[in-house]
Amino acid sequence: MTDFRLDLCKVDEDTLLALASQGISILTGNRRLTHVLRHHFDQATANDGKTVRPTPDILPWNSWLHRLWEEVLVSGILADEYGQLLTLQQEYVIWRGLIGADLDFRPMSKTASQVQEAWQLCHEWRLPLHESLFQYNEDSRLFWQWQSSFQRIQQKGWLSTTCLPDLLCQCFERGLLPAPDKLVLTGFDELLPQQLTLLETLIRAGCNVEWLQLQPKPSQVTQIACADRHQEALLMARWVRQKLADNPQAQIGVVVPELAAHREIIVHALDQILIPQVFHPGQPDQARSYNISFGKPLSAFPLITAALKLLNLFKPAISLQDGYPLFHSPFIAGWEQESSARTLLDARLRETGEPSTSIDTLHFYASQPNRRYTCVVLAKKLDALRSWLRICPRKAHPGQWARNFAHMLKLIGWLEGYRLSSEEYQVAEAWNAVLAEMAALDWVMDTLSVSEALSQLGQMARERIFQPQTGEAPIQVLGPLEAQGVQFDHLWMMGLHDGVWPHPPRPNPFIPLPLQRKHGLPHSSEQRELSVTRMLTQRIVTSADEVIVSYPRQEGDETLRASPLIKSYPSLAVDALSVSSIALWRDCVHHAAQLSEWPSDDAPPLLQITAGGGSRIFKLQAACPFRAFAELRLGATSLGELQIGLNAMARGTLLHLAMEKVWGKLDSHAQLTALPDDQLSTLVLEQVEMAVDELAPRYPQTFTRHFRSMEIERLHGQVLEWLALEKKRPPFRVIEKERKYSVTVGKLGIQLKVDRIDEIADGRRLIIDYKTGKAESNRWFGNRPDEPQLPLYSLIAEEALAGITFAQIRAGNMAFQGIGVEEGIVPGMKSAEQLAQAREFGGWPQLRAHWQATLEALADSFCRGEAAVDPKQYPVTCASCTLQPLCRINELTVLDEADGDRAEGGMNLGTNV
Ligand code: SF4
Repeated sequence: MTDFRLDLCKVDEDTLLALASQGISILTGNRRLTHVLRHHFDQATANDGKTVRPTPDILPWNSWLHRLWEEVLVSGILADEYGQLLTLQQEYVIWRGLIGADLDFRPMSKTASQVQEAWQLCHEWRLPLHESLFQYNEDSRLFWQWQSSFQRIQQKGWLSTTCLPDLLCQCFERGLLPAPDKLVLTGFDELLPQQLTLLETLIRAGCNVEWLQLQPKPSQVTQIACADRHQEALLMARWVRQKLADNPQAQIGVVVPELAAHREIIVHALDQILIPQVFHPGQPDQARSYNISFGKPLSAFPLITAALKLLNLFKPAISLQDGYPLFHSPFIAGWEQESSARTLLDARLRETGEPSTSIDTLHFYASQPNRRYTCVVLAKKLDALRSWLRICPRKAHPGQWARNFAHMLKLIGWLEGYRLSSEEYQVAEAWNAVLAEMAALDWVMDTLSVSEALSQLGQMARERIFQPQTGEAPIQVLGPLEAQGVQFDHLWMMGLHDGVWPHPPRPNPFIPLPLQRKHGLPHSSEQRELSVTRMLTQRIVTSADEVIVSYPRQEGDETLRASPLIKSYPSLAVDALSVSSIALWRDCVHHAAQLSEWPSDDAPPLLQITAGGGSRIFKLQAACPFRAFAELRLGATSLGELQIGLNAMARGTLLHLAMEKVWGKLDSHAQLTALPDDQLSTLVLEQVEMAVDELAPRYPQTFTRHFRSMEIERLHGQVLEWLALEKKRPPFRVIEKERKYSVTVGKLGIQLKVDRIDEIADGRRLIIDYKTGKAESNRWFGNRPDEPQLPLYSLIAEEALAGITFAQIRAGNMAFQGIGVEEGIVPGMKSAEQLAQAREFGGWPQLRAHWQATLEALADSFCRGEAAVDPKQYPVTCASCTLQPLCRINELTVLDEADGDRAEGGMNLGTNV
C-alpha cells in the first residue's frame, strides 16, 4: 500500500473552469459532475460573446482510463501482451463460469456479483494477495481459488478493467505513454490506493496533479420530521415547486441516500406537483423539469418488457402471459387497425383452456377468415416468423443470438410504424447497446441454447439501469455519491433516519473481515460507515445556501428516528415550511366531479323468444339482472383466467365424458353389481382412457404423456369410488345420457343438455346432474334461486318424476344431493316434506308448481329486458362476478350509503344499460 498522499485544495468554480479553458484535463468523480461542469463551462464561454468556443477536456476518471487504453491499443506498445479489455459483463460471465461448479445453495447471480466486487476491492485497495491471508474461512478460501483461475485467464491476453490502472502505471513508468503536463481531479471524497499509485507514478513522470474541491457554502440547515415517506416526498415536491416559483433560475438539488429503493415514490410526488397534467389520460409525453440520476432496469420499460416477452416466441410452447404484447401492445405493427380483434384473439385462445400455445396455433386462429378475432397483419407476421424459425439453429454463440433476436423482433413487427417519443428512442438505443454487449460475449462464452440465450439477455436487460436524458433541468435528484462536487442554491436531503444514515456495515463475504477492517474498506465496520457518512453529510449540507434535511417517522409498523448526524440541526414543523399549495391532480378531478341523474331504463326487450345460455340465463337473472343482460346479451365477459393443468370446466367435461362412456357399457344397476371388481376396474380404465384420448387433442400443450397417465389414474379412481356409491342404490336402469332438450319457460325457448336420466324400479324417472364441485340442494329455493338448474330440469320430465339430484363426484366426498317424491330413492335423498326449505310448499306437486312459477317469472324478466344492477346479496353475489367496472356497483354502494337512502328492491342505474 502506498504512503503517497495528495493534498486537497478548496477553490471556487470559476478557478476550475479557468483551468479547463487552459486545456487542462479535469477528471471528475462521477458523470453527473462532468455534465454539470461542461454545462457551466459552455454558459461561461457563451457569456464571453466568443463565436468559437474551446471544447473543455472534462471527463470522468473511468473514461480517462479508457482513453489511455485506446492510446495503448493504437500505439501497439503492448500488442504482444494484451489484446482485449474485458467489459464488466464479460468479466461477470467469466466469474459465473469459474464459480459455477463450486456453488452450493447460494444464488448464482448474487454470488457472482459479490465475487466480482471482491476482486475489484482487492485491486482498488491494493490488498496483499497472499494465499495465507485468504485461509480465513470457507468463502475466502473459495475466492482465492477463483481469483487464481481468473488470473490465469488474464494470461490469454484479456485484461480486467479493474487491473487497467495498474497496467497504465507500468506504461507511464516504462515511458511507453507520455505523462500529461497537468491533471486536475475534482469531485472525489477520497482517493483509493490504486488511484493514488497511478497519480504518484504520473507525478514522478513530471505531471503536475492537483486535487480540488469547491469551497463549501455557508449554508442554513433545517431539520424536518415527516409522518412517512409519502408525506416527505410530497412535501419536498411542494417545496421544490415553491422555490422555482420564487426564482425560475434557481438550481435545486434533492439528495436521497436510498434512491434506488424509493425512486418511484419520489418520481410520483414530483410528477404530481410539478407536471400534474402527466396523469391526464392521452396526454403526450411531458418534458420534466427534473433529472433523476438513478434509472430503473431497462427490462422495466414497456418497450423492452414487450420485446423480452415476444422473444419467447422462440420457444415451442408460449405462455399466453408472454404472448400479451402480441395482443395488446401498440409496439407491434398493425396494432392500430387490429387492437380490438387482437384482444378477441387473446380471449379466443384463453377459451381453449390452455395457459400456453404454439406459434402454429397462434397463426391458425389469427388467420381464420371472417372471425371477430381475425388479425390479418398479425397473421402475416406470424407466418413469416414461423418460416424463419424453422431454419433458425437452436444453438448458437451469443453474438449470433443477439442478431437472431433483433431479426425476430423485426419479423414480428416490433416498433414497425410506431412513432417513438424521445424517451422511447433512448430506450430503444439502450436495448441495441445491450444486444451489442451480448454479441461481445462471444469472447468468453460457448454456444447457448434458446433458453440460455434468453436468460442471458433477460439478465443483462434487468441489470442495465437506465435513465433517459431529459436535457437541462433546474432540479437534480441524486444519490449522495453522485452529488460529489455539485453545488446548488437550494437542497433537500431526505430519508435520513437512523436505520440508513449511517448504513449498517455490510462487508464483502469473500474477503477476510480483519483484512477489510485493517485497510479501511468501504462498509467493513461501523466506524468506517460512521466516518464516511459524517463526511458525506458535511459535504452535502455545505453544497447549497439553503438546506432541508428530513426523515420519515414511520415505515409500516416500524417507528423511525432521525439520524444522529442531523439531530443537531434546528427543526421546523411541517406546517411551518413555506411550500406550494397547488392542488393534486387527483383532488382537482374529484372536486370537479358532478353527479347527474339519468332515467332508469330497462334494456330493449328480447326480440326472438329463443336464447342461448341454457339454465345459466335463470341463474344469472336470479343473481343479478344486469349480469344476465351484460353477459348473455352484450357478451361482456372477462378474459379467461390462465391456469396450469386442466381448468375446472375441462375437468368437468372429462368427467362427463367418462361417465357417459362407462354407463354406455354398463347400462343398469344389475350389470354394475354383477361385474367382479377387477373386471369393473378394467372396464372403467378403458372408458376413462377413451375419454381422455377424446379430450386430449383440445389441450395439446397440457396433455403430455406424463400428464395423460396422471389424469387417467386420477379419473379412474374417482369413477370407481363413485360407482361404489351407485352400487348401494336400489335397482335402476340408465335410459338417457347427455340428452338435449328444447324447453319453453314462459315465453323463453332454451336448449338444455341433461347429464343422465335413470328409470327406477317402479318406472318413474330420476334426473341426475354430475357435479365435480360442492353441490347443495338447499340453493334451489326462493324467488331468486342460486342454483335453478335442477328445478328447471324438473319441468322437462315427460314421465312421472321420482326426484332430481346432483351427483357430487368429488374424491373422498361422494354423495347424492337431491329431493325426491319420497325419501331413499338414492342413498341420503330426502323427500320434499323432510327438507326444511321445501316443507312450506306442502308436497312435491306444489314444489314443482312453485319452481315453474319462479322460473317463468325469471324468464319473463329476462325477455322484458329487465337489467337492474341488483345483486341478490351484495357483496357475496358480486364476489364471483367480474363486471364491477361496467355496472359500477362499488360507486353505487358508496353513493347509497352516503344518501342513507338505499332502495329496498336494490339499486337500478339505467345509464349502465
Ligand atoms: S358485480 Fe354485482 S352488481 Fe355488478 S353485475 Fe356483477 S353481480 Fe351484478
